[in-house]
Amino acid sequence: MKKTLPQIVFATNNAHKLEEARALAEGSFEILSLSDIGCHDDIPETADTLEGNALIKARWIKERYGHDCFADDTGLMVDALSGAPGVYSARYAGPECDATANMRLLLNNLEGVADRKARFVTVIALILGGEEHLFTGTVEGSIATEPHGSAGFGYDPVFVADESGMAFAEMTPEGKNAISHRGRAMRGLTGFLAGSLK
Ligand code: IMP
Repeated sequence: MKKTLPQIVFATNNAHKLEEARALAEGSFEILSLSDIGCHDDIPETADTLEGNALIKARWIKERYGHDCFADDTGLMVDALSGAPGVYSARYAGPECDATANMRLLLNNLEGVADRKARFVTVIALILGGEEHLFTGTVEGSIATEPHGSAGFGYDPVFVADESGMAFAEMTPEGKNAISHRGRAMRGLTGFLAGSLK
């Protein structure tokens, strides 16, 4: 007989993130998306920290839908830009702008700058059994002077990970997941859930 797995909601409808999370959770628990629970809300991300935004999203689901859940928020921190774009990475070039515009602005702001050190940071907020837990994942790297590769999304063509020496957009999804900010935070979460959701 097929084992019934415990369920938890991931407060996202991003297909890429769901696929990544489901692969990590396989056999331990089942991940539901926001559309799986009938949530089509435009959840506000009004905090000025990654932790704050991840908690807003997780609490929104717990309070309105009653489900245990987790939510993530990611930022690209560039040393020479005092940590920008940081928590504003998705809307760096403006609220209506896409990833290409964000990357172009980043490269323009770093033109002629020698210190190109940067890191991606992901924070995941989990609400389980009435308790809140945070998981963080970081990957160190640098910003290239021009885009490389075509895989991935967001800032992947300009972020060169120290551990691979390649832009994320030049790596396979498995290679990127093994060292990425989100992969690391997700493995912290899934390890914890596998022990808690039995
Ligand atoms: P979010 O919090 O995951 O929505 O990410 C915020 C911003 O960071 C978005 O603009 C994403 O494009 C960017 N971002 C998040 N994760 C990655 C990644 O793995 N590679 C490149 N850009 C990312």
